[in-house]
This record gives sequence, C-alpha cells and structure tokens, in this order.
Amino acid sequence: MPTYIAPVEDMMFLFEKLKNNKHYNEIEKYKEVSSELVKNILEEAAKINQNIILPLAKSGDENPTVLENGVVRTPPGYKEAYTKYIEDGWTSLSCDPKYGGQGMPKTVSAFFDEMLSSASLSFKLYSELSIGAYNCISHHATDDIKNKYLPKMVEGKWSGTMCLTEPVCGTDLGLLKTKATEQSDGTYKLSGQKIFITSGDQDLTENIVHLVIARASDSPNGTKGISLFLVPKFLVKDDGSIGSRNGVSTGSIENKMGIKGSATCVLNFDDAVGYMIGPKNKGLNAMFTMMNLERIVVGIQGLGISEIAYQNSLNYAKERKQGKANNSKLSDGADFILEHADIKKSLLNMKSIIEGERALCFWLSQQTEVSLNHQDKKVRQEASDFVSLMTPVVKTMFTDMGMEITSEAMQVHGGYGYTKDQGIEQLYRDNRITPIYEGTNSIQAADLVFRKLVNKNGDIIKKYLDMMKNDCKIENDNMKFFVKELDYHIKILSNFTDWIKEKVQKSKDDASAACNDYLKTLGFVSIAYAWVKVLEVSFKDYNNNKNFYEDKIQTANFYFKRVLPRAESHFKIATTGSDYIMKFKFI
Ligand SMILES: Cc1cc2nc3c(=O)[nH]c(=O)nc-3n(C[C@H](O)[C@H](O)[C@H](O)COP(=O)(O)OP(=O)(O)OC[C@H]3O[C@@H](n4cnc5c(N)ncnc54)[C@H](O)[C@@H]3O)c2cc1C
Repeated sequence: MPTYIAPVEDMMFLFEKLKNNKHYNEIEKYKEVSSELVKNILEEAAKINQNIILPLAKSGDENPTVLENGVVRTPPGYKEAYTKYIEDGWTSLSCDPKYGGQGMPKTVSAFFDEMLSSASLSFKLYSELSIGAYNCISHHATDDIKNKYLPKMVEGKWSGTMCLTEPVCGTDLGLLKTKATEQSDGTYKLSGQKIFITSGDQDLTENIVHLVIARASDSPNGTKGISLFLVPKFLVKDDGSIGSRNGVSTGSIENKMGIKGSATCVLNFDDAVGYMIGPKNKGLNAMFTMMNLERIVVGIQGLGISEIAYQNSLNYAKERKQGKANNSKLSDGADFILEHADIKKSLLNMKSIIEGERALCFWLSQQTEVSLNHQDKKVRQEASDFVSLMTPVVKTMFTDMGMEITSEAMQVHGGYGYTKDQGIEQLYRDNRITPIYEGTNSIQAADLVFRKLVNKNGDIIKKYLDMMKNDCKIENDNMKFFVKELDYHIKILSNFTDWIKEKVQKSKDDASAACNDYLKTLGFVSIAYAWVKVLEVSFKDYNNNKNFYEDKIQTANFYFKRVLPRAESHFKIATTGSDYIMKFKFI
C-alpha cells in the first residue's frame, strides 16, 4: 500500500509567504484567519488523511461498491471513516457559518482537497459533489430551500450529486431527454434516466440531494430549454425531517477501471418530485456555478494523486538497488536506483511540476476568493475573469500531468509498479477518470480557446499576459535566469495567442486542432509564473530556512531547464495547422 505524508510545510509556506498575491490580503473577512489556525487545521487534516482515509484506498479497490436488493453498499471501513469525517467537521470547512460552516477560505479547503485526493479519491468523491451542490444551492435557490437543505449538507448528514449525463447526452447536454412536468402546486415531476452519477446512491448519509437538469414540457429543444431541479432521495417535510421515498432508484452501478470504491450509478427518475432552482430554462447557468468550482477541484485531484505517486517513487528509489551509478564507489553489488541520472530526472520532473502546480493552485484559490469577496467591484470582476480563464487550464493541465506522473511512478517502480504489490498501478487507474469527467480535457481546451480568451469584459488573455510581464520585472541578480526564461516563453505564448485568435475567426479547424497545445503552453508558462513568485520569496528569505529554500531553488532550476521548454514545442506543433489532418481519409 502506498504511504503518504501530507506536505504541510509546503502548504504553510504558500499560505504564509504568498499572502500578498494580487489583492488577496485586502479581503476583510480573512484577515483573522491566522497562520496558527491554518497550521492546526492542516495538521489535523494530515492525521485523518494519513491514518484513517489512506487505508480506504486499497479496501475500496479490492471491495468495490455493490448494489444489493436496490441498496448501494460502500466498501468496508467507509461508513466508520465517514462518521468520523463529518463528526470532525471536514464537510463544513469552507461553508458559510450561517448554515453551520467554518467559513475558511478556499486557499485552505484547496489544501484539504489535495490531501484527500492523495489519500483516497474514491472516498473523497462521497463529499466532493456535496460541496459543489452546496455552492449551487446557496447561489441560486430560494431562502426556503437553502434553510431546509444546506445545514444538513454542511453537516455531512445529507449529501449532494450532480445529474447531467444521460445515455445519449454526455458532452452535448442539449440532447438531454429527462422531462419535468409542472404540477398545480408549483413543484415538478421528473422522469428519465441519468447515468455515470457519482455517489448517486450510498449508505453513508440519511438523504441525498440530487441536482438534476431536465427539460420542462413547454421548453424549447437544445441548451436553451434546460432547467435545474433539486430532487431529494427522500422528500423533506416542512419541519425539516425526512419523509417518504421519492421516485428515484438506482438501476445499476458502473463496473470501472479505477475509483472502484466510488459508486457511479445509473439513476432512474420515475415521476420524482423536484423543485426548480433558479429561473426556468436557465438551468445550465446555475449548473455552471457547480461545474466551474468542481473543475478546479478535479484539477486538484490530479495534483493530489501526483503527490502520493511522487512520494512513493522517491521512497522506492532510495531503497531499490540495481546497477552501478556512473560515479559508483562500489566494487561489488549495486547502487540505489536514485543514483541513476535518468531516475533522478524522472523524480525531479514530478517534483517540479507538483510544487509549481500547488503554487499556481494557491494563486487561483486566492483569485477565486477575491472574485467573491473583495470590496471593489472592478477588482472582483478582473479576478473573476482570471479564474474563468484559468479554470480549464488547471483542470486539464493537472489531470494530464497526473497521468504523466503516475505513469512515471510506475516506471520508477519497474515490474513492482505494474503488479499490484505497491499500489502504484491503482494510482494510475484512479487518476485516469480525471481527464474525462467534469467535461473532457479536450472540451476544456476548446472552452479556453473559443470562449475564455476574450469575453464581454475585454481581452482577458492580454490582461493576463500583461500581469505576468509586469510581475516578471524583478531586479535581482539571482532571479536573472528565471526571469529571462519566463519572459522568453511569455513571448512565445503571446505569439501563439495572436495566431490562435486569428484562427478562431478564420479557420476553426486550425484552432480546434491547436487548442490542446495552446492550453499546454499557457499551463507550462503559468506554472513558471507561479514558480517565479515562489523564487522571489526563496531568495529574499533564504537565510531563515536555507534547506527548504535551496530545495525550492534547485527544483525550480529543473523546471525552467527541463519542463518549461515543452511550451515551445506545443507552439511549433500546433502552428503547422490542420489542413493535412482534415484532408486525411481513414480507410
Ligand atoms: C466515473 C465517472 C463519474 C462521472 N460522474 C458524473 C457525475 O457525477 N455527473 C454527471 O452528470 N456525469 C458524470 N460523468 C460523466 C462524464 O462527465 C462524461 O463521461 C464526460 O462529460 C464525457 O461525456 P461522454 O462520456 O458522453 O463522452 P462524449 O461526449 O461522447 O465524448 C467522446 C469523445 O468525443 C469528444 N468530443 C465530444 N464532443 C466534442 C466536440 N464538440 N468537439 C470535439 N470533441 C468532442 C470528447 O472530448 C471525447 O473524447 C462521470 C463519468 C464517469 C466515467
């Protein structure tokens, strides 16, 4: 079974030393969130993840969820762990105190999300969609609904789901068939089938709050006729207590490659009572509140799985002896594989991407908070535009890198990585869903290129590039190499941006065939930007924590020499166009 030590020191470094990132420090309500408090939270989080949740990863993989007589049973140990998890208040971390939440910023809950993803993604998924549903309900529902449902969801006694996908409708939600018929009392009755629903049923909570998209009888076809409904598993009485069973049942559980402890359900809705959330036919707008936050969290899943894969690879490379290193001092036997340049390079590739991603994710969490809570409307708007630009980047980049890193981890372990002994192949299998769900990574890339670069508020990518260029003007000899490299790659990104903006107007196939590469270029450059922020502190504060900062500087050095240059190859590949692709005839 893989081992895991939560990277609390790195997280605390970001929290304490990068507070000044773009307006975050100006948010009034978070001024009282002290480093001491956050450190306590992260240390407790580390304990529950390392000691209680980590063992569930293996048990969930070996004993997947089952459907018995219409009831979904989670793997052994899940119930006990979930009881402790909600008793300790982990579901309420970033929720509003008005509904019983702890009101912590997303900077802190993102750290917790990362730890939980490292420990067990399957277990995490039982509460993850609840937080997404909580966000959606608190933004779009009436006060009556909020007061009735949110406190129980915050407490973790009730959970939430997101019901979009149907047999004929995955990426293209406009094709959905689930019908909602209005009743004389203003409620709706929903009929149809949803598939692939994460935590669609389970035996952990007293009730499940499904957020379902459906088409009202008199609504138009396509995405313009989609509304959002809250459909509880058990109807809730006026006094908040649980009433009779609603018309939702589990048809089956999917048999999957990974995350086997997570119940991915086919749900049948047969005249199920539903309550409309937000305006009629505007369901997708409301659902996007949930999906956008979820996409960042899925990116964090990729980061968390990468971290545990890296930690175990490093440990293994320190224990496994094979072959002689180039400068071996041994006359007989073999050196640790960590001594081989190729293995060392692999480990540094993982480490430099992971730490850069964590710093970028911290910046994005800060910007999310600024977009929601800053007192100045203009500042809020700019942050919101940056969050919207970077959401598909973080989702895609972190989950694709998760595949690269879990694959490299398997390689470092050799045959013991491929067999089940060390639990490394499970990390690869568990991560494989992350580039697919919450909108495939290709759809994220298309969203970035066709919708996020420029919006009604202006040329967002230009503002983002200008921000990076400005922040890069650092007069410090130690930083010279890093700043020069970042500057060079910002220019490449700038040229790529001009090229792709033109193609979006004049040649959509060129733009489509390039969008994944464009996202990668933006991703690699953004991680370098996050590294520059880390480096600035590392040089300034060097003497206060030499070991820690030297490690940061050398890791960044690897990133700038070995990872960042990949941005340019994506630019070169993409700008060959798509003519030769589109003319190709498959036999
Ligand atoms: C384990 C698991 C859990 C899930 N959890 C949930 C959940 O909780 N709730 C929920 O509603 N759904 C859930 N899903 C569904 C998931 O979000 C979808 O599988 C995903 O959005 C892709 O849809 P699809 O599978 O129908 O693929 P399709 O939409 O059929 O796509 C197939 C391929 O075509 C590409 N493609 C599609 N359209 C275009 C286009 N316009 N341009 C270019 N390429 C395109 C895609 O990128 C993909 O590579 C889950 C799925 C799994 C496997």
